[in-house]
Amino acid sequence: MKTHRMDRLTCRQAQEKLFDYLDREIGERDRQRVEEHLAMCEACTRRFGFERKLLDQIREKAGRQGLPSDVKRRLAAMLRNI
Ligand SMILES: [Zn+2]
Repeated sequence: MKTHRMDRLTCRQAQEKLFDYLDREIGERDRQRVEEHLAMCEACTRRFGFERKLLDQIREKAGRQGLPSDVKRRLAAMLRNI
């Protein structure tokens, strides 16, 4: 397996990708970078836990259909402003 050195994300970059990560709309490479950042950043890990809980609750309500894209957009915008 080929591994390559990946650039580290800043907190801001990680947070920008966090919502996509939680929504599983992220590429494998970005996913790894987010996980790498979370592994070494307590602040982002806390934020991640909060957003994941929120998304899980919303998903439960939305059921199998998933979230409408306009809802996702609004949520993503809201979370970026926290
Ligand atoms: Zn961070």
